[in-house]
Amino acid sequence: MEHIANIVTDGLDVKQIRKDFPILQQQVHGKPLVYFDNGATTQKPQVVIDTEARYYEEYNSNVHRGVHHLSQVATNAYEKARITIAGYINAADPHEVIFTAGTTASINLVANTMSRRFLKPGDSVIISAMEHHSNIVPWQIACEETGAILKVIPINDRGELRMDAYEAMLDDSVKIVAVTYVSNTMGTINPVQDIITLAHARNIPVLLDAAQAIQHISIDVQALDVDFLAFSGHKIYGPTGTGVLYGKKEWLNKLPPYQGGGDMIKTVTFEKTIYNELPYKFEAGTPNIAGGIALGAAIQYLQQTGISKIQQWEEELMEYAMQELRQIDGIRFIGDAAERSGAISFLVHNIHPFDMGELLDQQGIAVRTGHHCTEPLMDIFKIPGTVRASLSFYNTKEEIDKLVAGIKRASAMLL
Ligand code: PLP
Repeated sequence: MEHIANIVTDGLDVKQIRKDFPILQQQVHGKPLVYFDNGATTQKPQVVIDTEARYYEEYNSNVHRGVHHLSQVATNAYEKARITIAGYINAADPHEVIFTAGTTASINLVANTMSRRFLKPGDSVIISAMEHHSNIVPWQIACEETGAILKVIPINDRGELRMDAYEAMLDDSVKIVAVTYVSNTMGTINPVQDIITLAHARNIPVLLDAAQAIQHISIDVQALDVDFLAFSGHKIYGPTGTGVLYGKKEWLNKLPPYQGGGDMIKTVTFEKTIYNELPYKFEAGTPNIAGGIALGAAIQYLQQTGISKIQQWEEELMEYAMQELRQIDGIRFIGDAAERSGAISFLVHNIHPFDMGELLDQQGIAVRTGHHCTEPLMDIFKIPGTVRASLSFYNTKEEIDKLVAGIKRASAMLL
């Protein structure tokens, strides 16, 4: 009974919310599923699944092309999703919202087009030591192609950015700063407002990788004054293969097109092509129409549930999880930042993360093990990987208790 009380918090009825997610009702290895791999991908509420199905059942048609009824219904629904997304991040104009296939695609779009127009030998790009490979490799490619240099903001022992080092790196050679808002491995929330203010003092644009922030933290792109923001639909309760690149109009207009094809053009002759207006200039080819519309439904679901209530419950869950996990004998956190959200990475004694992950799985508990696409970060901590539990608002304190008990049980078996 104690835990039932725990999960109804200030109007966020977690027990009720869990009923919206059909996948959470199942058993794994004979135990109720405890899903703590939300950093990898989040589960989908029924409304998202239904919205995607309804597109194919009722109005499957290409967008922006047909005068016929179905095409207009599809186009309206797709553009309405764009408006919903723009509202969610408070973009000044929905045309600053580009639909992509995910965070990776969004960052590649910026790295590729920035490098073609703005990078030359001797320039530099700043990233951080805690970046996901998606926010490292596209910039490495950009630097390889142009002769620019990649600079990396170091971190302290707790997994926080060394802002003194960042400030010292900012000089006239820097053409863009691209950092993660929240670390997918350690859960560190970076001081993004300070990062942006410092960069802007030198007229340097900033890209935020919000893949692990958008589902946990209310983001206002205008208040932040961020130049680019990238995130994935599937990490914010929407479909896989969807994502967003927000870009300030002035920047998106300055960048050359990324991919060529249908929809991104105004007129084409063999001599010359006139490119389309924003956002279509960056949306070549038939997009993931059903996915984009369903991403809009996911965001509406979050808005109806209440973003601040979600944030409040997730903060409470995080505090509880850290408090309970700290009791485990031999636990070592990889990243223990003062400001954190979503992910908790740890090791227990010398148990290999993979062994821990397997034994937790046998108890119905899904966690992620490995390097979490942050190999350079693993090198800094001199470890091959971690066990990562990542939280969502549909998780409960009872599930955290199960995780703690599961880790203790697995440790007893493995030590
Ligand atoms: N950036 C961060 C911080 C992530 O956590 C992830 C995925 O885990 C990505 C980028 C890449 O996202 P996607 O694979 O959806 O493109």
